[in-house]
Amino acid sequence: MAKPIQAIRGMNDCLPTQSPLWQKLENTVKNVVSAYGYNEVRMPIVEVTHLFSRAIGEVTDVVEKEMYTFEDRNGDSLTLRPEGTAGCVRAGIENGLLYNQEQRLWYMGPMFRHERPQKGRYRQFHQCGVEVFGLNGPDVDAELIMMTARLWRELGIDKHVRLELNSIGSLEARANYRTALIEFLEQHMDVLDEDCKRRMHTNPLRVLDTKNPDVQAILGDAPRLSNYLDDDSKQHFAGLCELLDAAGIEYTVNERLVRGLDYYNRTVFEWITESLGSQGTVCGGGRYDGLVEQLGGKATPAVGFAMGLERLVLMLETLELNDVRRSVDVYVVTAGEGTMMAGMKLAEQLREAIPGVRVMNHFGGGNFKKQFKRADKVGAVVALVLGENEVADNTVVLKDLAGGEQETYNQAEVAEKIAALI
Ligand code: ATP
Ligand code: MG
Repeated sequence: MAKPIQAIRGMNDCLPTQSPLWQKLENTVKNVVSAYGYNEVRMPIVEVTHLFSRAIGEVTDVVEKEMYTFEDRNGDSLTLRPEGTAGCVRAGIENGLLYNQEQRLWYMGPMFRHERPQKGRYRQFHQCGVEVFGLNGPDVDAELIMMTARLWRELGIDKHVRLELNSIGSLEARANYRTALIEFLEQHMDVLDEDCKRRMHTNPLRVLDTKNPDVQAILGDAPRLSNYLDDDSKQHFAGLCELLDAAGIEYTVNERLVRGLDYYNRTVFEWITESLGSQGTVCGGGRYDGLVEQLGGKATPAVGFAMGLERLVLMLETLELNDVRRSVDVYVVTAGEGTMMAGMKLAEQLREAIPGVRVMNHFGGGNFKKQFKRADKVGAVVALVLGENEVADNTVVLKDLAGGEQETYNQAEVAEKIAALI
């Protein structure tokens, strides 16, 4: 026997038992973003490599270590998208959607990062992202956070996530802060690991984001970014906090929250859960007013976030919020000459008569007992039974699988009865 081929490590199948929960999550997300008037945009999964290195930043985990980059047959360097913002901005510029306009967009789909696979961290994972262009905020920043808060409520996980918020100010403010931070870090070289040392001069803010507990410990005494913020950013942040307070959204200001991608300025935020262990960030975002210009467009303010759908699915499972609707309502059972054809015809009639009904025909024969067992297995609520007699006089036996009663109906009338039962 040939050796079976396996999927790539960290890239998962979504199996039929799992897809109903995924669909529920995806539909809830779509309904929430639509409720704010946002429109979907779909970008390619592959882009030229330098789009990501330019947008995300050369000295970031994603660009340094995590991208799936390859040469195509023309020798062009291409990359499987590790996130959606860069492609969304590229598409916006290329199609003239951004300059002097307002866009409120969302997308959903697979992203790729070559990371060490573990619970909540995969090599192909899925994000839903929301991006707004042409608005300076902080009103729209607050709306994005309110939108995510609404989503948590609709999913029933709002008690299990908390919001962390920070402002990382303007480019100039960060440049001033950078000098002070480097001076501080130079006095603690003995504690810094290799990654931190390397980043100290290229991208020192990323040191604040370290997961190394020894480095984290000394950072308590590091200069504070809030002392270097420009007045406009301070005002912007105060405005955002005020709007969130008015909306009744709780948050903590985490001065060390800088986010892993270089393009952010002013507002940054993360939604974090304790219920997933160390992969606790379910959603992250912020303002990136400089990115459109950096990618060759005209200066356009922008803000957005992305959430990891696998982590949300894991949360729904962990919190046992994963009982989704059955996928079959009606199971059609047949036995005898000519009954299969009649059963398929009846199923088609029902699909026309009852919007959204899920009808499954039994195929492959077998006695009634076997067929009823199958009806139970797929979770059907009613079984319709067609024998030769029923076909001959246009009737059908309806069996209520929960209650157990059964009754004969005219085929023309059975739809009404079913509609009342499901
Ligand atoms: P982390 O700190 O967990 O690595 P990140 O800062 O790299 O996250 P972002 O680039 O902000 O993550 O992506 C937004 C969201 O996408 C994350 O909050 C997370 O929910 C999800 N995400 C990121 N990387 C992965 C991955 N490898 N597998 C599954 N989900 C991921
Ligand atoms: Mg990461």
